[in-house]
Amino acid sequence: MTSGQIPIARSFVAGEWRDGAPAPDLNPARPSEVVAETRLADAALAAEAVQAARAAFPGWRAMPPPARGEILRRSAGVLERRAEDVGREFAREEGKTLAEAVGEVRRAVAILRYYAAQTLEPDGETYPSASPSMLLYARREPLGVVLAITPWNFPIAIPAWKIAPALAYGNTVVWKPAELTPLTSVRLLESLREGGLPDGVLNLVVGRGSAVGDALTGHPEVDAITFTGSNAVGRAIQRKAVELGTKVQLELGGKNPAVVLADADLDHAANQVARGAFLSAGQKCTATSRVIVDRAIAGAFLDRLASLAGSWKLGDPLDPETRVGPVVSEPALRSILGYLDEGRAGGGEFLVGGDRADELGDGYFVRPTVISSLNRDSRLLREEIFGPVAVTLESDGFEEAVTLANDTPFGLSASLFTRDLGAALRFAQEIRAGVVKVNQESAGIEFQAPFGGMKQSSSGSREQGKVAREFFTQWKTVYVDRAP
Ligand code: NAP
Ligand code: MG
Repeated sequence: MTSGQIPIARSFVAGEWRDGAPAPDLNPARPSEVVAETRLADAALAAEAVQAARAAFPGWRAMPPPARGEILRRSAGVLERRAEDVGREFAREEGKTLAEAVGEVRRAVAILRYYAAQTLEPDGETYPSASPSMLLYARREPLGVVLAITPWNFPIAIPAWKIAPALAYGNTVVWKPAELTPLTSVRLLESLREGGLPDGVLNLVVGRGSAVGDALTGHPEVDAITFTGSNAVGRAIQRKAVELGTKVQLELGGKNPAVVLADADLDHAANQVARGAFLSAGQKCTATSRVIVDRAIAGAFLDRLASLAGSWKLGDPLDPETRVGPVVSEPALRSILGYLDEGRAGGGEFLVGGDRADELGDGYFVRPTVISSLNRDSRLLREEIFGPVAVTLESDGFEEAVTLANDTPFGLSASLFTRDLGAALRFAQEIRAGVVKVNQESAGIEFQAPFGGMKQSSSGSREQGKVAREFFTQWKTVYVDRAP
């Protein structure tokens, strides 16, 4: 996969690497540096990928589940041996710090192992029948061809938590990763190939959503679509899927609150809120973007938060001292700076940050930012900014804090800081979010538990853990009567 020093990220269809139109894959910390050369697929290659997955389905489905699991387990071992190298390329391609990138690769390894183990779990149930001669059972069967469409912000963990269960439960897969992270995608695919995955079982389509999206999502041979990304793209895919009768699952954006009550440990809360808001440069779907602080401690808390934001090292993701890297691309940078300008024009008070870090050259660096005193209807309080920006609101007591926290169309994650167990349990009950964290940042999840959002953040189904089986399989009910 390497030409000279620069790796090439190509599509992989029916067991073959496939060429396409060249495009550079840039390092957001130093956009003049080409991390990889991409070869972009077109719509015809995307359609071929679906055909390849269809052709491979009968064989893969017939393979005993424990044998499928063994392939996933071997693939995990391959990826684990390469975790440092893959993490380094990923940090250069996407801009996450090296520690976060290597950590995410290791998480993908753990996810592959988890779903390898799931292939040994029971795959159905028997039922008592009204007839004495009947064996009545129901079993989970694969769906067929699953299309996985994934974003750039977790370019290996999200693909792993979609592809591993899809394969474990007997589906074949067409995977369209984000245009911004083709190389990390190729590395995951290579690990699965070296683990022994047969031709056509996983097909990688490295292509732009605008060029290959319709050919994939509208293809009649696609049985199910699992999508993580923005609301605009996700809802359009869902509308089309409903029309075509394709099973679909969406995980979308958030506007996640962190609520800090007056009795919270303020040092701990500030550190956790800073982590939620600024790590990965705020580009997590579960990132903290609204901070709701009790008026009684607002000054003391915000001083702490602003001081952390101003002191965390912003810089090259490969520097071990760096805590916050660049944002992923120039359009992302422009979008975030646009929100910041709007916040200034709208009378927001910038406690820290608020601009691009020009001293870091042409990299896409935004200083960690804390903004207060915005109007309640400001777009900065309502829309996902997807950058290292925390907007703050003040509240009086628990009731108002929860009301503010729920005042959003999104419902992905939420966190609460308090020492009051009663308040914690009430918050867990009243907040409309799919993930609730008490005394912890809103980001950071464990793969063995269900994950997903409420309201506009999701299509309502859940990913990860054992519940992944709900989406990636279907029930078949069998009545067997003893021959007369
Ligand atoms: P995005 O622009 O929606 O892209 C997501 C994926 O969809 C990419 O692979 C993209 O390809 C593809 N795509 C774009 N247009 C398409 C089309 N017409 N048909 C089919 N596919 C198409 O989102 P993003 O900017 O990569 O990711 C950030 C968003 O994801 C944020 O809103 C974030 O909150 C959300 N997110 C949610 C979760 C969650 O679990 N809830 C997790 C992570 C991220 P290209 O890259 O080629 O455009
Ligand atoms: Mg890049």
